[in-house]
Amino acid sequence: MNKVIFPYALLLMVVYGCNKIDDGTTGSVSSNTDGTTTNNFSKLYAKMYNIVSFDSSGTANVKIKTTDVPDHKSPFFPVGHAKYEVYNGDNPNFSTAINLMGTLSDPDLLTQNITFTIPRYPEVSSTHSSTTGGPIGIARNGVVFFNQYNGNGSALDALEINNADQYLGHPTPLAGNGGAQYHYHYEPKFLTSTYGNSAFMGFLLDGFPVYGPYENGTKITQSMLDSYNGHVSATEDYPNDKIYHYHVISSSSSVATSLTTAAPYINGGKYYGTKGTVN
Ligand SMILES: [Zn+2]
Ligand SMILES: [Zn+2]
Repeated sequence: MNKVIFPYALLLMVVYGCNKIDDGTTGSVSSNTDGTTTNNFSKLYAKMYNIVSFDSSGTANVKIKTTDVPDHKSPFFPVGHAKYEVYNGDNPNFSTAINLMGTLSDPDLLTQNITFTIPRYPEVSSTHSSTTGGPIGIARNGVVFFNQYNGNGSALDALEINNADQYLGHPTPLAGNGGAQYHYHYEPKFLTSTYGNSAFMGFLLDGFPVYGPYENGTKITQSMLDSYNGHVSATEDYPNDKIYHYHVISSSSSVATSLTTAAPYINGGKYYGTKGTVN
């Protein structure tokens, strides 16, 4: 829309954008599918917390380190831990235990050591690589996002849904590397209740931000989004710009019944932009 109504303003942003890229005040300009504008999400990086470090010394990427330990309570903390909270959600079938092909797994969440290296000025990719198992992004509170598949690459079903705590997170099983890694597949309920339904939720690995399930008071539905679960629009943080961003799709109050039909929850299985790395 800027191009139509404010061609001169857009030109100024293009000309001066590169010199002001780090101050976070110029905001982000429209999705650079034509290569003429630059996405700058400094303002959103400043909202990251409960992380070990944020390194913006690189020109092409930023690095975010996290222990992945949530800032909110959970039944997946050890009983007696200050952050332990018994399940108080609305799913009568909730259990901290998960039955993995006959083997019962019931881990407390564990401290992790995860580093995200994500594009500082994200751009649309021509190839749109698929998301994989493990972290696909990081929420603003340092907890990692997973995609809408389980460890076998199948759609999430009752097994995972009945293991999602009151904030819709749960840990991976204990076995193997990165065991008991707490993560969100669905709406991060603690973040939407704390910051609002239209707020910035975090970043995916391609450097594009994730927003909550509402925008301007309207509930976002999948028909309003592309196949990556995103679109180009103004957001709370960039009311005068059009930025590409993903949306978490809302889970209704009835977790057990709504989540089975709501996928994709955070992304569509592929990245819109060029993905960074996580290790
Ligand atoms: Zn999971
Ligand atoms: Zn939006």
